[in-house]
Amino acid sequence: MPFAALGLVADLARAVATQGYATPTPIQSQAIPMILAGCDLLAAAQTGTGKTAAFTLPLLQRLQLDASGALPAGRPRALVLTPTRELAAQIADSVRVYGRHVAPRTALLVGGVSMGPQFDALRRRVDVLVATPGRLLDHLSQKTVSLAGVEILVLDEADRMLDLGFLPAIRRLLALLPKRRQTLLFSATFAEPIRQLAGDFLRDPAVIDIAPRNAPADRVEQQVHPVDAERKTALLSHLLSAGGRDATLVFTRTKHGADRLSRQLERDGIRTAALHGNKSQSARTRALDDFKQGRIQVLVATDIAARGLDIVQLPRVVNYELPHVPEDYVHRIGRTGRAGYAGLAISLVSADETPRLRDIQRLLGRQLPSSVVEGFAPSGGRRPPAPTAPIASGVRHHSAHRAGPPTGERPASSSPRRSTRPEAGSGNASRRHHHPNPPRRVVTTGDRA
Ligand code: AMP
Repeated sequence: MPFAALGLVADLARAVATQGYATPTPIQSQAIPMILAGCDLLAAAQTGTGKTAAFTLPLLQRLQLDASGALPAGRPRALVLTPTRELAAQIADSVRVYGRHVAPRTALLVGGVSMGPQFDALRRRVDVLVATPGRLLDHLSQKTVSLAGVEILVLDEADRMLDLGFLPAIRRLLALLPKRRQTLLFSATFAEPIRQLAGDFLRDPAVIDIAPRNAPADRVEQQVHPVDAERKTALLSHLLSAGGRDATLVFTRTKHGADRLSRQLERDGIRTAALHGNKSQSARTRALDDFKQGRIQVLVATDIAARGLDIVQLPRVVNYELPHVPEDYVHRIGRTGRAGYAGLAISLVSADETPRLRDIQRLLGRQLPSSVVEGFAPSGGRRPPAPTAPIASGVRHHSAHRAGPPTGERPASSSPRRSTRPEAGSGNASRRHHHPNPPRRVVTTGDRA
């Protein structure tokens, strides 16, 4: 289905075209008509599916079509809540990009930066407010912002907000919003707490489920390399130095571990930065920017810091350590293989991590291919995960290439996010599904962007 059939106005359609999007992704083709029709929405879609445009485009259209609704300073009409600062910043960028021809006033309220510029932004009209829960509560307690005029609320990555302990903050915020509003909830999964949240705060939502629960991106090739724990850094350096020196996001379990590994890789001559919650916001922004611009090859990150990163053409993710929570593995590898590109996810697994690997494979419902890299065979001790492939001879080089666009179009520029596109169609084509609480899943398509 072309964008033109989704019911977007010409100004938004033009912005999408500028981004080079030819075809809507599955979440976009399902969600946009429903949101335009005014439905509440519960959507299971992971990052990388094009979900930001799926809510931003119709949200902007609804605001634009009711321009008389512009409110006084500091009273946003739409509120987008996200778990992390980086994701909030990316969404605010997307709002500007997709809204380039409708010029929404956007404000970003996140922690880790000074409040001054945020106060300034709130002294003006704000159409779309993008915020993390903690900083928004700070502003509310200082009465620098009011949520009384919010018409549309988006809870993005709601599952991660709950994981991070934001539920009480979300409940406090929701109590400050008008009862009459449109609420859109996006989550990677429909776990029970999400169903409860939806049952409490959504009104008769349409339900969309874009990816099978916890299914990793189809385009991500996954590979396990068994190795002794103390040789992981050497193996990683070896992998990173070989081949095309692809941009690589490396996951560690701890902030301290991220710093240590980053320093070691630098010593090995690999341009690296660490990204985690102990870094100042400016250091995090700089690291991300250096990575996106190719000034550094490797970003070493913890799970929380990496959540929501949208880096188009990220060819490779490495799990230096497997996560404690198997679901985090799925989030991690979802950083690559995005927007139709191919991706490679490598896990360096020491013998002590075998139980974690087992849990991940149970979650995925299959064994991951395993091969020993020449020169890095694990020594005795506990038995490492058995290779499922013949001994690998050194390193394979995997470069980003399109595996064919998700729904037939190209990924546009290399900017983190891009826009939308147009055009009238059946604005009411809402495939609306009524259901009791908790909502049942109704729409399922396996494809993802
Ligand atoms: P998201 O799931 O919102 O994080 O988006 C993932 C990536 O897909 C972003 O870089 C978007 O710019 C890109 N994208 C979103 N919609 C489309 C589309 N229809 N066609 C191609 N790329 C898209």
